[in-house]
Amino acid sequence: MHTKAKISVCIYPGTFDPITNGHIDIIKRARYLFPKVRVLVARDANKNTLFSFTERVHIVKTVSSRMDGVECEGFDGLLIDYLKKNHINIVVRGLRAVSDFDYEFQLTLMNRKLYPSVEFVFVMPGEEYFFLSSSLIKEIASLGGDVGEFVPKIVEEEIKKKLQTHETRYKS
Ligand code: ADP
Repeated sequence: MHTKAKISVCIYPGTFDPITNGHIDIIKRARYLFPKVRVLVARDANKNTLFSFTERVHIVKTVSSRMDGVECEGFDGLLIDYLKKNHINIVVRGLRAVSDFDYEFQLTLMNRKLYPSVEFVFVMPGEEYFFLSSSLIKEIASLGGDVGEFVPKIVEEEIKKKLQTHETRYKS
């Protein structure tokens, strides 16, 4: 167990490829619990992302700048190394359906082994976001569907641009 410290900031890490209204719901709920929320965009070199690391950081920074007490940073490497370096030990993650539980459980236990003073806080989104995921957004958008009601405006615009570029490349 750790000693009680004054908590000033919590970290909300993820790939955010792209950020959705579900993520934003978690950020707002985390902000209700902690004075400051730092959204940490992971480079995640192992994942085949639609948006590049730079693009994801830019989008999340734009979205965060409109929310009081919310900031964004990009990071490359192991989450616990970032936490240790910055003396932060609170991590927020979103929990949707049971399907998230297995992965989050493994992730938490592994991180705790590596950094015993870390605490993971799981936040449940509003029920309208329960079935929302970045992959679903990418799938709907790639099939020509309208994702406007599930993502911030900047994501809707960027995803359209991205898919147009893909189509042009495919056709030529
Ligand atoms: P990761 O690759 O780390 O899972 P994601 O960007 O997919 O990154 O998700 C980051 C966090 O946000 C995870 O804890 C995930 O469960 C949560 N999350 C994703 N979509 C939603 C949603 N619609 N509602 C609540 N939490 C969500």
